[in-house]
Amino acid sequence: MSALWTEPDWDEHERVEVVHHRASGLTAIIALHSTHLGPAAGGTRFWHYAEASGAMRDALRLSRGMSFKNAMAGLPIGGGKAVVLLDKNGTKTPEMLEAFGDAVEAMGGRYVTAEDVGASEADMVAIAQRTSHVCGLPAEEGDAGGDPGPFTAMGIYLGIKAAAAHKLGKDSMEGVRVAVQGCGSVGGGVARLLAKDGADLVLADIDIKRAQELAREVGGTAVESDNVIGTQCDVFSPNALGAILDDEGIARLDCAIVAGGANNQLARREHGKRLHERGILYAPDYVINAGGIINVSWEYLCRQRGETCDINEVRQRIAQIPGRLQSIWDASDAEGRPSNEVADAMAMELIGRG
Ligand code: NAD
Repeated sequence: MSALWTEPDWDEHERVEVVHHRASGLTAIIALHSTHLGPAAGGTRFWHYAEASGAMRDALRLSRGMSFKNAMAGLPIGGGKAVVLLDKNGTKTPEMLEAFGDAVEAMGGRYVTAEDVGASEADMVAIAQRTSHVCGLPAEEGDAGGDPGPFTAMGIYLGIKAAAAHKLGKDSMEGVRVAVQGCGSVGGGVARLLAKDGADLVLADIDIKRAQELAREVGGTAVESDNVIGTQCDVFSPNALGAILDDEGIARLDCAIVAGGANNQLARREHGKRLHERGILYAPDYVINAGGIINVSWEYLCRQRGETCDINEVRQRIAQIPGRLQSIWDASDAEGRPSNEVADAMAMELIGRG
């Protein structure tokens, strides 16, 4: 067996814990990449992994991603992530959630959890019975917290407008053609906001009915999900899957800008260089999609101080996303470097690893 620190996704993680709770059958990994800026925050993924090594890879890679995302969002928190390994039926029991809450509590506030793939608001409520180091809990009207999707969508919408101004010289989205891949919580929210500005929308989802319904609602055109990446457009906005920007995906793009919310859009770091070489403006995913973590981390930080958090504070922080993207693109233009590499270097500097 090879040592953890020889894994390709190892990046000097501060702490990695493997949790096994015999009575409930919980097996989980909690990875803290960096607490340089504050407690390591990042969601918990509940997933069945065919190979346990896949779970470790996710925990290492995703926790590093959270360090970068949280730092670039200007949040006083570090980066962490947890994965709970489910059986092939995806069994998740109240006892497992309790045991997981105890494991988070045992980290003494160094790790703060939230929703990720396979987790619901109700799961966070169950975990909160055992630890206070959890966010993404139901929020009262006007308070921070609750479903992060609409906040993520708002940040992406603002980022797309900034990209259209930077690359196309447009001060309005009227008539700007945007192809949206994925019409779920994030993609649907982005499309609704862009529709109000008169954007020309092309919508795709693996569930074609979902794309057609959204197209009827906002006035766009629904296309097959396999074709959307090659659609002629100004902006391609990926809001479904990761790793879609690989050799083949980039060759198919017919757009000036890629700006969307999916995590880990670049299959590999060098695919950022390929986009740059093709003259396509790329909005680094972890910068443009930070609206959700801004919302739930603010909820957590306010609750720890015993205060409720005004949603307007969250909105003001999300409004800073376009400015961050602009500084990345300006440096990219000035230095002739791909925007993903510029963003990575900025994030490393912020977490004290420059
Ligand atoms: P969601 O499940 O609500 O929506 C995803 C949509 O993508 C679904 O409608 C699904 O049918 C569709 N889809 C799946 N595979 C597809 C394919 N091959 N082609 C086209 N459509 C496909 O999820 P979401 O919360 O909207 O998240 C979307 C992406 O954004 C994910 O990558 C997620 O990790 C990322 N993200 C979400 C948030 C958030 O706040 N929800 C925050 C940061 C990043």
